[in-house]
Amino acid sequence: MTPGPFDDRDGAIWLDGEFVPWREAKLHVLSHGLHYGGAVFEGMRVYGGQIFKSVEHAERLHDSARELNFRIPFTVAELDAAAREAVHRAGIADGYIRPVAWRGSEQISVSGAATSVHVAVSAWEWPHVFSSAAQEQGIRLRTSKWRRPAQDTAPVRAKAASLYNIGTLARDEAEAAGCDDALLLDYRGRLAEATGANLFLVIDGELHTPIPECFLDGITRQTVIGLARDLGIGVRERHMETDELTRADEVFLTGTAYEVQPVSAVDDRQYPVGKVTSLLAKAYTRLVRPPRG
Ligand code: PMP
Repeated sequence: MTPGPFDDRDGAIWLDGEFVPWREAKLHVLSHGLHYGGAVFEGMRVYGGQIFKSVEHAERLHDSARELNFRIPFTVAELDAAAREAVHRAGIADGYIRPVAWRGSEQISVSGAATSVHVAVSAWEWPHVFSSAAQEQGIRLRTSKWRRPAQDTAPVRAKAASLYNIGTLARDEAEAAGCDDALLLDYRGRLAEATGANLFLVIDGELHTPIPECFLDGITRQTVIGLARDLGIGVRERHMETDELTRADEVFLTGTAYEVQPVSAVDDRQYPVGKVTSLLAKAYTRLVRPPRG
C-alpha cells in the first residue's frame, strides 16, 4: 500500500526534545526557515534496523548549522538517541531518517540573530530511491544549465535547505526531459555532482572525482573512497573538466539515498555498468548490510 502524504501518517516525530503524534509535528507559517531559508537537514539510512553513520550525520547537522550562523540546541549524542528511538518506535528495518533544524518565528526579517532554533527527527520505511532496474542498469543524467555556486556566493559546504533550490530546478528539468537526474557543473563549468549525490568517473581502472570545494563532501563519497583504497583501486581527487566524460569507462554516483548508483548515460554518451562500479557497489552493500552469522 502506498503511504499517504508526509503530513498524514501514523507514528511519532521527535520535535524539540520529545515525541509528538506525527500529524501534530507542525511549525508556524511565519518561520524564518520557511521565508529566508534558515534551515539545514540530514538524510540517513537504516539497514536491518541499524542506522548507518548516525553520529557522523549528527555532526554534519551541527557543522551545517554553524555555516549558517546558528547553533543546534541538542548535542550530537541527543540527536543520535532521538534517531535511534524514532527507528525503534516505528519498528523500521529498512528506512530513511530525516533530521531537520530551522530558525523559528521570533523575527520575520532577513536577520536571523533573534530566532530560536527548532529540530525535528522523523523516520520512515523506505527501501530505495530508484527502481531496481535503474539501480542495476544505471540511471540517465542530463547536464543542467543550473550550476553549483562559488564558496563566496553561498554556504556551499552546508547541507542547507536553501541550496536545494538549485537541485530542484535541475532535477525537474532533467525529469521533464525523460532523464533520472541532473549533472550539475560548478560556477566555473567544471564537473561537480548530481542533485543528491557525488560523482565518480572510472578512467583506466582508477577513480577520478571532483574536489568537493563548492558541494558536499558526502559521507558516502568518503566511505567509497576508503573502500576503493582498501581494494587497491587508485583514487584521484582533482578538478575535472566536462570533456573528461568522453574519457570515462564507467560513471557512478554516491550518496546516502543513492548508495553506489551506476550511471548509464550522461546526455548522449552511454556507459556500461562496469567492473569497478560493480565491485564498489558490492563492497558498499557488504559494509552497510553485513552478512549475518
Ligand atoms: N550532494 C548533495 C547535494 C546531496 O544532497 C547529498 C546527499 N546528502 C550528497 C551530495 C551525498 O552526501 P552523503 O553521501 O553524505 O549522503
